[in-house]
Amino acid sequence: MIDPIVMKDTYFRDAHIMDPGNGVDETGNLYVKDGIIVDFGAGLGLPEGAEMIDCDGAVLCPGLVDMRVALGEPGYEYRETIASAAEAAAGGITTLAALPDSRPAIDDPALVRLLTARGEETGSLTILAYAALTRGCRGEELAELGLLREAGAVAFTDGCQAIASTRLMRLALTYARGFGAMVVVHPEEASLAEGGAATEGELATRLGLPGIPAVAEAIVIARDIRLARLTGGSVHFAHVSTAESLTLIRRAKDEGLAVTCDTAPPYFDLNETAIGDFRTYAKLSPPLRRESDRMAIAAGLVDGTIDAVASDHQPRDADDKRLPFALAAAGGSGLVTLLGITMAQVHNASLPLPRAIALLTSGPARLLGSDAGTLVRGATADLCLFAPEHAWKVVAGELPGKAQNTPFDGRALEGTVLGTWKAGRRVYTR
Ligand SMILES: [Zn+2]
Repeated sequence: MIDPIVMKDTYFRDAHIMDPGNGVDETGNLYVKDGIIVDFGAGLGLPEGAEMIDCDGAVLCPGLVDMRVALGEPGYEYRETIASAAEAAAGGITTLAALPDSRPAIDDPALVRLLTARGEETGSLTILAYAALTRGCRGEELAELGLLREAGAVAFTDGCQAIASTRLMRLALTYARGFGAMVVVHPEEASLAEGGAATEGELATRLGLPGIPAVAEAIVIARDIRLARLTGGSVHFAHVSTAESLTLIRRAKDEGLAVTCDTAPPYFDLNETAIGDFRTYAKLSPPLRRESDRMAIAAGLVDGTIDAVASDHQPRDADDKRLPFALAAAGGSGLVTLLGITMAQVHNASLPLPRAIALLTSGPARLLGSDAGTLVRGATADLCLFAPEHAWKVVAGELPGKAQNTPFDGRALEGTVLGTWKAGRRVYTR
């Protein structure tokens, strides 16, 4: 899969070069030498000794930056390993931020360094480590935020759980602010969500499923926006999924608070009816919402309320899902469908292509304080080449990597990754 030795200089011919973070959107050629972007432009000729890749007008953009991924490691290797997650290259992803609620939790500086090093070992992926906000992600006492930050943690979060204690969350925002880091929140009020399997409403009732009221999300968002105002701290809401959440976040942004958010493809592409005949692959956390919420999230991509699209990749094996709906594990895999589902908003809705690419590259890179997600001259050549109109079909069981639990099984998509380069080295070829 990965050629470990050869490091060629590469000349990309006739590419649609796109780097929205720097306002680049032009047709031309791009030259990579020793893993670095040397130059690009319409008049750039073929340098001697460089290997030529004919792009035929395909889009050449920064390697995608996925800011929300649960890895199977450590603790859940049967679901996925870092080596199998490195198949993310097939989805055009070259940088990902890994959640810390593994077993053990990433609440120790040595584990932050280990996770980062494991990414480097893959040769195809930069892993940015989120560190646990509280010891063991148990929500009881704060972790050693200063030491974790020093070890390279990009931000703090308890992964798939909001901090229940308002007092502790206030403290967390205050300390994290001191270390120049944001707190990332899974916005869901835990006592309201407990035991729920779908969004509360007519559909859940008809299917006989225990419901989670949609306001479980807005309740946490409203609280944490108030705490951001009180502390001056920086809060980021993950996978927002309701119209009300976006209204609150939009208002906080207008006020100038350090409040940002991302969403994941299921929340702008699917609604609760995807559960259909108790399809457990559509059991997600947060649960899929009503159509009006889906439409609001899609609009939030366009109007800039949403800062990034992240896969919220949650690997599950077949046994986690081969259970009655109410008992099955929540979560979907998302690495290889991240680009294709986002492209569906370009093809079938009103999302402009440069905005779509920004949501997948410069947007998340900026939030994470990473220098990835750009094509500036002198930058590391992390690249994704994709054909926006080329069709493919999502088939669970045939996806690259270990995690096959996609909520998009059977879906026809347009937008195919043709190649991925990490620091100038080709790590994926279609
Ligand atoms: Zn979550």
